[in-house]
Amino acid sequence: MIDILKISNNQQTIVKPLSISGIGLHTGIDVSMKLFPAESDYGIKFIRKDLNDNNVIEAIWSNVTSTKLSTTISNKNGASVSTIEHLMSALSGLHIDNIKIEINGPEVPIMDGSSIKFVNLIDSTSIKKLDKKRKILKVKKNIKVEKDNSSVELKPNNQFSINFEIDFPSKLVSQQSCQLQLVNGNYKTDIASARTFGFEKDVDLLRSNGLALGGSLENAVVVGETKILNSDGLRFEDEFVRHKILDSIGDLYLAGSPIQGFFLGNKSGHHLNNLLLRSLFSDKNNYDYI
Ligand SMILES: [Zn+2]
Repeated sequence: MIDILKISNNQQTIVKPLSISGIGLHTGIDVSMKLFPAESDYGIKFIRKDLNDNNVIEAIWSNVTSTKLSTTISNKNGASVSTIEHLMSALSGLHIDNIKIEINGPEVPIMDGSSIKFVNLIDSTSIKKLDKKRKILKVKKNIKVEKDNSSVELKPNNQFSINFEIDFPSKLVSQQSCQLQLVNGNYKTDIASARTFGFEKDVDLLRSNGLALGGSLENAVVVGETKILNSDGLRFEDEFVRHKILDSIGDLYLAGSPIQGFFLGNKSGHHLNNLLLRSLFSDKNNYDYI
């Protein structure tokens, strides 16, 4: 995404390799990742080190193959990596354009359920400006995707702004809305530490479907009938909608460049975010690069 007041005109990468490891939220598999600096126009690519051949998966909207509870990308040979959205969100929030991510398993580690561990990891090294100018995707037309009661929308705007509304049938989550512009590095303070969440009543069903196998109170907010089960409670009063913004920023970074436009999400998620990008790129009149 674009943080107009802070963004460099040049593409950026990290200065030195970084490592991080943890458990996958859905697979429950322990994975390690190494992040490497990359040259201008390399983009963001995942390399499945546990696979020998055809193990490179580019993080781009057209490679999204599943959006069931998380965003999964695959290459033409079927190699995939799932739950990429929080890492993508951190890369977007910190304006990292080019990076090579080696991973030795099928799912990005969930860490604490937010993107703050990835932000802190990248902040532990320096960010390097590269020679080439960054391309920014400027939205030229209104694009809207609706499904059932949910919708996502991109509108022309002179910077990146986001407005998100949720409404869950739960006393503790129910209606929340949040609007913000990404300016002056506020991604880190206002969004990055908002954790993913789930409902206690859904846990058994998820697990019987082979999902959330690595989920725990260490990496998700769990909402019970009458209370939040995490002993420390919430990090923000409106942590749920902030996490939906975190997810959307990550999903939209699969556009392949920062977006200049106004994003509106209403009870939406990974699936509609991907459909929005597919709709955006279906017509060259919808956007320009600046
Ligand atoms: Zn998420």
